[in-house]
Amino acid sequence: MTTPQLTAAGLAALRGNARRNALAGEAMHRLEPLYGPVVWAPRFNALEELIFTVLTQHTSDTNAEAAYNSLRKQFPTWMDVIEAGADEIAESIKHGGLANQKAPRIREMLRIILERTGRLELEFLATMPLEEARAWLISLPGVGKKTTGIVLNFALGMPAMPVDTHIYRVARRLGLIGLKTNVDDAHDIMEIQIPPGDIFRYHILLITHGRQTCKAQRPLCGECPLADLCAAKPVFAKAFDTSKYRRPVRGGQTL
Ligand code: SF4
Repeated sequence: MTTPQLTAAGLAALRGNARRNALAGEAMHRLEPLYGPVVWAPRFNALEELIFTVLTQHTSDTNAEAAYNSLRKQFPTWMDVIEAGADEIAESIKHGGLANQKAPRIREMLRIILERTGRLELEFLATMPLEEARAWLISLPGVGKKTTGIVLNFALGMPAMPVDTHIYRVARRLGLIGLKTNVDDAHDIMEIQIPPGDIFRYHILLITHGRQTCKAQRPLCGECPLADLCAAKPVFAKAFDTSKYRRPVRGGQTL
């Protein structure tokens, strides 16, 4: 059992960003023994990560992996994808869902990257300041803050925070962001809650917590090491006290 560095009373004494930063640090301190250790290691180069991330949209990682492997097998180079018909690409990624939308988007991304840089790689982004690299990627069709964060952080080790649905849910419940904060703003707020070198760990620990403990429908608050610090825990405790589950609501918003 990890010794808490921040107590509920200590947290209550803090306000604003100091409160959220302290909570973020404490969350990592308590979650890493449970889900870690977390060590950054790139799984793909930056362009591969970008294409893989497009394939993960609206499907499971397993389906996205099947689609990615099929794409790479059928089109060994990215130039092969640019030169292929959208229907051929869609057929090769059909296991990932929304193939007819993803196929032309992937081909267009690759075409634009080649047109702008003369190359089919994105490692040059690591030489740019973070905001420039982010703006470059976001200018590609269909690329938002989450995809940008994944590419820059996972592949290049840059301090960009990707916020997915699990992290957004955990962050709202815990109080790392406000209940009315939208997911786009959550990226900016959470990115500066911890030191830049900890962003990958922060992302992985919160996403794992969301998948394994702070689940969407019925969070396991009784097993949660953050329960004493959590803004939503009393709401869930009350809701789960009834024999029939009802979705907890606070302030008119589903938590
Ligand atoms: S106490 Fe419950 S709602 Fe709060 S973070 Fe833990 S699992 Fe999620």
